[in-house]
Amino acid sequence: MSRIRNKSPKLLNFTVRYRNVKYARLELTTGRLVVILPKTYQSSAEEVIQKHIRWVMAKARAINSALRKADRKKIVSDRTEESFRNFVFRKVRQYSEELALKPGVVYFRKMKTKWGSCSCRGNLMFNRLLKFLPNSVISYVVFHELVHLRHRKHGKSFWQAMRLKYKNWEKYEEKLLMYWFLLHKHLTETK
Ligand SMILES: [Zn+2]
Repeated sequence: MSRIRNKSPKLLNFTVRYRNVKYARLELTTGRLVVILPKTYQSSAEEVIQKHIRWVMAKARAINSALRKADRKKIVSDRTEESFRNFVFRKVRQYSEELALKPGVVYFRKMKTKWGSCSCRGNLMFNRLLKFLPNSVISYVVFHELVHLRHRKHGKSFWQAMRLKYKNWEKYEEKLLMYWFLLHKHLTETK
């Protein structure tokens, strides 16, 4: 773990990882700033952060606000694994029909960095920890992953498709971030 001094007096913690990638990039999905660098990268991680400092600070603000909100929220703890899975299956069926999609297999797994994902073959994977989230938020994640079958990346066309059902998709993304922290707090406390 390294630290960087920003223009503002705040110190920013970050981790550097070298990977087989073409370009340097930043990740801040789990609340920790990770700088991913190509194995042959010449300049420093600090330089990469400084270059994207506005993005980093905006993300950090969103995370801080999510953390504050998480303090006042509770997770859903009375749902069984079976009823959770059935709910997801039902939503996958419903939204596939609405979107005229034919998804492949639905899988469940405990994932450390995301709520869901989809493969290029059309299979869907959902984080088992979604079980602790309210129905409305689970439904959002299902719809989000299904839209990915049509638009791989989070580009303009992706969010346009999302807006057909979720005009306020930003609110749901905020909620997901909030639940992420809430859940991780809960899981470390009950270990
Ligand atoms: Zn996505």
